[in-house]
Amino acid sequence: SKKLNISNYGMVWMSFIKGLVVGLLIYHFFINWWKVNNMTYDKNNIFAKILRGEIPCKKIYENEFVLAFHDINPQKKVHALVIPKGEYVNLDDFTSKASEKEIAGLIKGIGTVAKKIGVSDVVKGGGYRSLVNVGENGGQEVPHLHFHIFGGEKIGKMVS
Ligand code: AMP
Repeated sequence: SKKLNISNYGMVWMSFIKGLVVGLLIYHFFINWWKVNNMTYDKNNIFAKILRGEIPCKKIYENEFVLAFHDINPQKKVHALVIPKGEYVNLDDFTSKASEKEIAGLIKGIGTVAKKIGVSDVVKGGGYRSLVNVGENGGQEVPHLHFHIFGGEKIGKMVS
């Protein structure tokens, strides 16, 4: 009967460990889901103010989905920003919440702006680089999704 007791303990431990693993998996899944779905958008970020017309910008282009303007502190000869009109903190927030129309609108907007500022290959502008910074490791400063467009000269190494 001693043997039986030991194996009972083993069973109890196994169930406990299994429960713990399943619990941790559920917890991990829930935390990630919560993080993605509860990114709080700061309505007072500088680009939100530009969208509301409270702060001026050197506007390049606007349609129902996007607004594009020149960067206030250009890193290259040409440096433009393309932002969605919707309230999205970053690319993760955008890709998980935006509609197909908004997503298409933003990508098309980048192409349109590249043409308008004369850097696009389509208008023999020599090409450009478009990039988006996300979060802390990405070095994102303004918490409203924005695509950078750099051009007008050789842009150099992909990352420095
Ligand atoms: P990021 O580091 O990717 O968040 O880039 C933010 C960019 O926004 C920087 O390149 C800034 O120079 C630019 N920026 C900040 N404030 C303004 C503004 N009021 N008008 C235009 N560009 C701005």
